[in-house]
Amino acid sequence: MTPLLEQAYDPEIFRKQAHQLIDQITDHLTRCFSKTEPQVLQWRNPAELRDKWHKILSVEIDQNQFWEETIHDTIHLHHPRYMGHQVSPALPIAGLGELINGTLNNGSAIYEMGPVSSSMESVVIQWLAEAMGFNSDASGFLTSGGSLGNFTALLAARQVQSGYNHWREGLREGFHPAIMVSEEAHYSIARAVQMMGWGEQGLVKVPVNHNHQIDAQQLEPLLRKSLSEGKQVIILVGNACSTATGSYDPLEPMAEFATRHKLWFHVDGAHGAAAAITPKYRHLTTGIHYADSVVVDFHKMMGASALTTAVLFKDGANSYATFDQDAGYLLNHGGNDPWYDSAMRTVECTKNMMGIKIFAILKTYGPQFFIDYLTSCYDLGRTFAEIIKQTDDFDLATEPMSNIVCFRYHPENIPGDPQHEPDELNRMNRKIRRQLLESGKFYIVQTHIGEVSYLRTSLMNPFTTREDLTSLLDEIRKYGKKYTS
Ligand SMILES: *Cc1c(COP(=O)(O)O)cnc(C)c1O
Repeated sequence: MTPLLEQAYDPEIFRKQAHQLIDQITDHLTRCFSKTEPQVLQWRNPAELRDKWHKILSVEIDQNQFWEETIHDTIHLHHPRYMGHQVSPALPIAGLGELINGTLNNGSAIYEMGPVSSSMESVVIQWLAEAMGFNSDASGFLTSGGSLGNFTALLAARQVQSGYNHWREGLREGFHPAIMVSEEAHYSIARAVQMMGWGEQGLVKVPVNHNHQIDAQQLEPLLRKSLSEGKQVIILVGNACSTATGSYDPLEPMAEFATRHKLWFHVDGAHGAAAAITPKYRHLTTGIHYADSVVVDFHKMMGASALTTAVLFKDGANSYATFDQDAGYLLNHGGNDPWYDSAMRTVECTKNMMGIKIFAILKTYGPQFFIDYLTSCYDLGRTFAEIIKQTDDFDLATEPMSNIVCFRYHPENIPGDPQHEPDELNRMNRKIRRQLLESGKFYIVQTHIGEVSYLRTSLMNPFTTREDLTSLLDEIRKYGKKYTS
């Protein structure tokens, strides 16, 4: 035993350090929520910040100061003026779950290595499946993010839908499988198709309507056209909701269409499937329980820390199809569903104790936390849209269905050749976005819809107020005026 090891593992040193760190995080959260901390972030370019941290590695600095610098340089998701990407300001109790995960390290690839997290994971999955309207045949697992969740679900769909053992044989000659998905789908769907080796022809993009939703009427002719081009569509993917504009596809007619044509219906609900458990916004996901598989990110609209993603299967047996651990495997286990060995169904071998955070939320606040969180954020989306519509210098991209609101600054006196106006407006809005980022007073992002650049907000923080939203518009006007004068 070396003195260094003795010190590094000393429980009493840990106690002291942990108490201090909890105090620091608590003070940070207080400053954010009260906005006594005016900055959402301190913008530094990547090389500059990397330099700073490179130096910190070699200077004497006490533990407290080191954590303080760390917190300072983070982007503050708990600040009510954080309105950027779709990651939730984590509920503090989820952070406490992470502390257990990080210190006890009970990775749950197999039950023996993670008895409590395997059990919690199963309880959490069962609760979610039921809350979303699935019956007791449903099951699933937790995995590391929506992107991996989509990939895993689509691998299972491939195995079930191919009509032969795709996992063992690979792609048969003459078989050109394809997935039909909205042109607004998250890029992880296209990546999954490529990772399965189906090439670009494996993705059939469905055009969207003015609300950025799939028009279910379009599916039939597009399916016929794909078939005539030699593409065998075996999977249909619906957005609940889309990433760019937060639009929900019409899941019920899509499910009917999928059933009629024997397609696997997968719902990418990474952001918004959780609406299904809320009385107020449930209607957005009508029909979601007909889906063969659904992905739900707990770290987006369910307030948990990243990464925690549920992959649900309507028929739980299909969740074993991903890596060809099919019915035969189950029989070897005496017909028992080996739910407790998580690695049978997930890409991960060792895995975080994901269930613990969700279990802790459920145990402490009940499902009502998830309902209150999503409902408050979606309500804010509607409030912001109303505010924007009352101005005469901002355009709303589309009526928001969720907490994602896209808009742009569009004053009347925009200079330049009117024929090039879209370019000019695009440039101005992108420049405003950049200046906002560098000011650090708000954090918002940007997106393209067709040829048009929009400012994009995801209202992830239920403590964002109407005043924060009007101040954001004022701040944008300030930069816009500089641009136009
Ligand atoms: C965020 C998102 C994803 C990706 O999820 P990660 O957890 O970031 O990997 C996939 N699909 C949609 C619709 C999303 O919004």
